[in-house]
Amino acid sequence: MPQNVEVVVIGGGYAGVMAANRLTQRPDVTVTLVNPRPHFVERIRLHQLVGGSHPAVVDYRKVLAGGVGLVVDSVQRIDAAERGVTLSAA
Ligand SMILES: Cc1cc2nc3c(=O)[nH]c(=O)nc-3n(C[C@H](O)[C@H](O)[C@H](O)COP(=O)(O)OP(=O)(O)OC[C@H]3O[C@@H](n4cnc5c(N)ncnc54)[C@H](O)[C@@H]3O)c2cc1C
Repeated sequence: MPQNVEVVVIGGGYAGVMAANRLTQRPDVTVTLVNPRPHFVERIRLHQLVGGSHPAVVDYRKVLAGGVGLVVDSVQRIDAAERGVTLSAA
């Protein structure tokens, strides 16, 4: 049986969400996404936020694959040698 790999994706923008979702296709990978806000910001809709026609945010549960864990926080430090991250709230 393959060893489980725990992946932390830092930043839940377009790139982070896509990376996290893709990684859920791997049965040997557990994915956690860390983002400071609890909602996905649709940057391409920010002009609509200014115009008052759209809030430009959606719930992460609508854009994240089911297997992705969400931690609402900021990463302050990446320790590659120890394979860990330090969160602002820590
Ligand atoms: C006003 C505006 C309008 C735009 N309109 C268009 C458009 O119409 N079409 C188009 O193609 N592109 C548009 N863009 C560009 C597009 O938004 C970016 O190319 C795209 O957002 C980049 O995606 P990303 O995932 O790389 O980064 P981002 O979307 O910037 O996501 C980065 C994420 O990482 C998080 N983050 C940062 N630091 C940390 C940390 N230390 N710990 C945890 N999380 C962290 C941020 O909070 C954010 O959620 C627009 C950009 C802006 C600002």
